[in-house]
Amino acid sequence: MQGYIDCHCHISAEDFDSDIDDVIQESKKAGLVALLAVAEHAGEFEKIIQLSQRFPGFVIPCLGVHPVQDPAQPRGALLEDLDAALPLIYKYKDDIVAIGEVGLDFTPRVVNNDAGKDSQRQVLIRQAEIAKMLNLPLNVHSRSAGRPTIHLLKELGVENALLHAFDGKPSVAMEGVKAGYFFSIPPSIVRSDQKLVKQVPLESMCLETDAPALGPEKQVRNVPRNISISAEYIAKIKGVPLEKVMEVTTQNALRLFPKLKAFIKA
Ligand SMILES: [Zn+2]
Repeated sequence: MQGYIDCHCHISAEDFDSDIDDVIQESKKAGLVALLAVAEHAGEFEKIIQLSQRFPGFVIPCLGVHPVQDPAQPRGALLEDLDAALPLIYKYKDDIVAIGEVGLDFTPRVVNNDAGKDSQRQVLIRQAEIAKMLNLPLNVHSRSAGRPTIHLLKELGVENALLHAFDGKPSVAMEGVKAGYFFSIPPSIVRSDQKLVKQVPLESMCLETDAPALGPEKQVRNVPRNISISAEYIAKIKGVPLEKVMEVTTQNALRLFPKLKAFIKA
């Protein structure tokens, strides 16, 4: 398969409502063959499914509950959202290629007590169980929680996971590599440090944009066509041709998300 796969993208974000057709068109022109549309909360699921029907074989859904929810919501909202999400995940189990995005976010402004961290853990544990039952990989967020996330996934016996925009230590990432996990690199890597890209082998790497977030420039809307920025950066750091980065990361994505191939062809 010739082209890029964006393994983690928020194409259902309001930022794309006004020009979604152009954004998809430009993504295809830039060499993308598919993008994985991840969810943050249950209220977004139907929109993602609708987008996947509007752009069949290109917008590929992942459904899950993100650890960071609207701070305006009362505590416990995370668990309530999981309750709302579960029936929908079952309903759409044949339409999705992964559970996500899920994970842990221990940034102090997000969570500042053990109870909050514990509800994040519970929500991740439940979704890891569902993923196992449905035989689906996890699309994982971790922020200021690299070690707790990798350790929890391993403890839970998770075999198939993508760690997106990983901000933990490279040594912790390598524990994930040993467990068979993949790491996806967003375009914001150009304004970050090189250590992760240096350490993690290309054979354990995927591409992502996390659009509209994590673009090459702060405060500017990121778009899926920026996937080439991630690929070019990896090629430079690894000292390999761009084509090789495209080929290996796409093969990795197809291996990690086994249902993806059939979706792209369909
Ligand atoms: Zn994300």
